Amino acid sequence: MPELPEMETYRQQLSRLILGVPITGAEVTRSKSLNIDPDEFIRKLTGNRISRIERRAKHLLFHLATGDVLVLHLMLGGWIFYGTQEEKPDRTVQVEIHFGEHHLSFIGLRLGYLHYHTSTEVEKILQKLGPEPLGLDLIQFRRVLRSKKGNLKVSLVDQSFLSGIGNCYSDEICFEARILPLRKVPSLSENEQMMLYQAMQALLREAIQFGGYMEEPLFVGDRLTGQYNPRCRVYDRGNEPCPRCGHPVVHTEVSSRKCFYCAHCQV
Ligand SMILES: [Zn+2]
Repeated sequence: MPELPEMETYRQQLSRLILGVPITGAEVTRSKSLNIDPDEFIRKLTGNRISRIERRAKHLLFHLATGDVLVLHLMLGGWIFYGTQEEKPDRTVQVEIHFGEHHLSFIGLRLGYLHYHTSTEVEKILQKLGPEPLGLDLIQFRRVLRSKKGNLKVSLVDQSFLSGIGNCYSDEICFEARILPLRKVPSLSENEQMMLYQAMQALLREAIQFGGYMEEPLFVGDRLTGQYNPRCRVYDRGNEPCPRCGHPVVHTEVSSRKCFYCAHCQV
């Protein structure tokens, strides 16, 4: 599932491509991906423009010139492509927004969605989310940590605790901090809390800089999206040598989530 760096990469790249461009129409092949009637959706979009794209946790918010907002969550398996009809990948597209000759295609929206809301509704929907990890200083982070009793893995992916971190980056952050993801949050020393904070900041920034781990490019010639994938330290690297100490990376399950770590250099 795309996490903060993947959605941030989409936000930055899409902002350069579609902001201010008139929407000439839309197409919906899976009405369940929307929260309103497809005809109404198309009517509201046609002639409109996207004036700003914002990211909040794993959501993208497409702010329309009329003041309303499209809220995107890709969930598991969802991705986005932007390009002409000829460039479009041979995949089933659930929702497509037309910008003249170019189309923004939402693919793999099985659990994911593109919902139409007023700005007031959006505030209400997003208010349950925890703080953005990159917006916290160390003191605020320590305060947030105090609310958690469970293990680090489950806490880091809890969107009401910190928003935007999922299965991949929770493991990557723990590895970078040299702390086992199974550790209970209250057991972390002050120094470990600081290491965790620094690892989280550095790793999320690096992942954004390298375009996250999405496998499909956003557009033809996109050289950024997915460049973090080969840099992944432990996630999806079960039994491969730890990049720090060479011991095999452990693959286990924590509360039915995939979890990867090095039992030798993480404590
Ligand atoms: Zn190691």
